[in-house]
Amino acid sequence: MQHGKDHGREDAHAEDPPVAARVKALEAILLEKGLVDRAALDAYVDTYENKVGPRNGARVVAKAWTDPAYLDWLRRDASAAIASLGYVGRQGEHMRVVENGPGLHNLVVCTLCSCYPWPVLGLPPAWYKSAPYRSRAVIDPRGVMREFGLELGEDIEVRVWDSTAEIRYLVLPERPAGTVGWSEERLAALVTRDAMIGVTKALSP
Ligand code: FE
Repeated sequence: MQHGKDHGREDAHAEDPPVAARVKALEAILLEKGLVDRAALDAYVDTYENKVGPRNGARVVAKAWTDPAYLDWLRRDASAAIASLGYVGRQGEHMRVVENGPGLHNLVVCTLCSCYPWPVLGLPPAWYKSAPYRSRAVIDPRGVMREFGLELGEDIEVRVWDSTAEIRYLVLPERPAGTVGWSEERLAALVTRDAMIGVTKALSP
């Protein structure tokens, strides 16, 4: 896959030794001087990877599931529709929502580094930045999803989207069955980070 686009100077390039090395050096100094505690640092990263960040995306998805006008807006101009909920900022300026359907499943990767929609998903998980995910998501997306517990039939088309600094993708999972009449808040609890990257589906109620 051709991938010569700009991935953003501020992006956390997984294979950018100068940046990674500087971060490691900084962390080492802070730890050595007792200025930070490793457990606290890990907890902080975990919070932004798993708790705070992806909750924003989950609210976008839940609103799209319950509000047809919002879904339409999201399809036409995802950046504006997402910004209307207050989710704006770096690494989220040019959003595109890719919609799963009965015969279609979308998967997001950044083959070159780790481009990721920060305002709606928070920090990317380590596996998203890993070389195996970045290559295998393209070569064998069904195999990758299988490892996350998602087995897709051959009748379901899989589309893989390569994020760049210019466009960040968010997967709109299918609304799970058995959720008729649910509030947005209750629906949002079914929307995981992994479902919005596309390696899994939304949770079943
Ligand atoms: Fe990238």
